[in-house]
Amino acid sequence: MCLDESKRQEYLAFVSARLGKKRLTHTLGVEKMAIELAGRFGADVAAAQTAALLHDAAKNGKKQEKRDLAQIYNIEPDPIEERQIDLLHGALAAQMARRELGVEDEDVLNAIRYHTTGRAGMSRLEKIIYLADLIEENRDFRGVKALRRLARTAGLDEALLAGMRHVLLYVIREGGAVHPDSIDAYNALLMEKGDKE
Ligand code: FE
Ligand code: FE
Repeated sequence: MCLDESKRQEYLAFVSARLGKKRLTHTLGVEKMAIELAGRFGADVAAAQTAALLHDAAKNGKKQEKRDLAQIYNIEPDPIEERQIDLLHGALAAQMARRELGVEDEDVLNAIRYHTTGRAGMSRLEKIIYLADLIEENRDFRGVKALRRLARTAGLDEALLAGMRHVLLYVIREGGAVHPDSIDAYNALLMEKGDKE
């Protein structure tokens, strides 16, 4: 069942007030892809929409604003997050969703929280939001078409694993630090897959 239209409008208004045009378009793209993936992989569509609409609510704003917000929400950045404070935008958005919009579904909150890094033992919804964020229709990077095709033809884990592999290689190529949760997420998926070299 789709998200109740008045709730949807409330969430949209909340993020519209906080995001620029481009990120809003991205957000709507994530919603669309999350609905598709939730349908395909048997997840709660309303939960997927809620997480998609709110996932980047804390993405805008200066670094210092993110630090201030983290303090207000009692979020202690780890060393990697300290170095790349933007990594906190998922955790910040989850707190916003909880405190300012009354979202209580822990799975939705976790999907928002971990959409940037992933983590070991992700739920189906967390996987769907991570993947939808990466391959929504406005994304344009080398290999995105192949990832979309995989998401529409292969299993969720297989598509996610390919997506994570892409992100990890990209982050490393750009000289960024890799968050331990991302490594854990990737390794956990590989282990679940079970095949050895
Ligand atoms: Fe994000
Ligand atoms: Fe996003």
